[in-house]
Amino acid sequence: AAGSTGATPTRSRLIVLAGPTAVGKGTVAAAVRETHPEVWLSVSATTRRPRPGEENGVHYWFVSDEEFDAMVEKGDLLEWAVVHKAARYGTPRGPVDLALASGQPAMLEIDLQGARQVRETMPEALFVFLKPPSWEELVRRLVGRGTETEAERERRLETARAELAAESEFDVTIVNHEVHAAADELVTLMVGPAPSTSD
Ligand code: 5GP
Repeated sequence: AAGSTGATPTRSRLIVLAGPTAVGKGTVAAAVRETHPEVWLSVSATTRRPRPGEENGVHYWFVSDEEFDAMVEKGDLLEWAVVHKAARYGTPRGPVDLALASGQPAMLEIDLQGARQVRETMPEALFVFLKPPSWEELVRRLVGRGTETEAERERRLETARAELAAESEFDVTIVNHEVHAAADELVTLMVGPAPSTSD
């Protein structure tokens, strides 16, 4: 069972998935999409540079600082934050509204600061915390990924420590022992047997 707060986990068509760096949020989200292509996954805008293999419009919308400024000014972002003291990331608002209006289950994969903002503006969302099996495992995954410099890794681990302490702010915790098991738990929260109340 996914619940950790004692209360029966509720279901929601809008899931906010957060959790420390390198815990595997992206991999779990991709695994959900594999078995449930009807789940809509938000594509964030970011000012960070693409990693090898990342595609514009698929993994992120890679934008300049000026473009990001313009989105903020126009109110186009549902939430945004500076993550790992390195770059800005934000959720385009329009696509989320469209997905929800069409009745699609939707998922945002964002950091803790962003999750706190969405908690204020969309309290009907279900906030899910993805947690590594252990701190050692988190470090192992981050180093194994090999996409960050030593300095970036240190910054990310520093953020991760703080983020792990925020677990209690979330509705549900899922421990990412194994990607498909974690994805199944997530799917249950979104499209499980209980019908959502009309709203
Ligand atoms: P990465 O650079 O490894 O792709 O992502 C770094 C962090 O940014 C992750 O913790 C991820 O959840 C977070 N992130 C990605 N998109 C967004 C977003 O739209 N808003 C916020 N607040 N954080 C995001």
